[in-house]
Amino acid sequence: MRLLLVADLHYSLRQFDWVLDKAARFDVVVIAGDHLDLSSIVDGRAQSVVVGKYFRRLSSKTRVLICSGNHDLDSKHESGERVARWLSASQHEGILCDGESVVIDDTFFTACPWWDGPIVRAAIAMQLAEAASKRSQRWIWIHHAPPAKSPVSWGGDRYFGDVELREWIDQYRPDMVLSGHVHQSPFIKEGSWADRIGSTWVFNAGQQFGAPPAHIVIDTQTEEAFWFSAAGNQVVRLSSALSRPLPGVQAIPDWLKAADLPRVPGQA
Ligand SMILES: [Zn+2]
Ligand SMILES: [Zn+2]
Repeated sequence: MRLLLVADLHYSLRQFDWVLDKAARFDVVVIAGDHLDLSSIVDGRAQSVVVGKYFRRLSSKTRVLICSGNHDLDSKHESGERVARWLSASQHEGILCDGESVVIDDTFFTACPWWDGPIVRAAIAMQLAEAASKRSQRWIWIHHAPPAKSPVSWGGDRYFGDVELREWIDQYRPDMVLSGHVHQSPFIKEGSWADRIGSTWVFNAGQQFGAPPAHIVIDTQTEEAFWFSAAGNQVVRLSSALSRPLPGVQAIPDWLKAADLPRVPGQA
């Protein structure tokens, strides 16, 4: 399986366009939250309509898996907790959203919502417990905030990760957790785009401006994960122990190189 991970697109239409342009090369595209931008001059509702259209166009090209981030919360639960109602499953047919799990080929995916309080947090705990009982193959979680106390959640002076997520990882040992949220982690000293907690790989591509977005490409067949960013490219072997510093990319696989070739007019 060839998977593209991005997050924190924050209503960058150039970045959504880039993802749309590359999507067909991947079996799965994961957008791990913060689709919208609270600080934009564009109204949040208008943003969600535009982004919803991108989701639909993406899902005509490949399997699309998303989760909510803290910038995506548009409504209040009756308890007062904020939730991303516009990302609920019923709104986006065919796309894996918050609270759902799906099997694609040999992999079981679970998408968790952003939690803003104890009710949604408890719902995630239930969701993971239920999904764990069905797990029989590779299990990948999509969760906007990265785990606490990891280089993928390092902010420069403290960790911005999720303590509960770290406990869930310890409890269930998924194969991978795909996150975003802490924009600077991969770009700063002591931070990274990749880490390992026990046997679990955790990833956060980071955020940069313009296209392409910082992104991670995972090939489960060759057991490699690549990070591509304005600050450089790195690779890890999923079957090997993690050792830092992470090596640079020596050879980009042909299928991925092809994804960056300019289109010849008149050809598909
Ligand atoms: Zn963000
Ligand atoms: Zn965020």
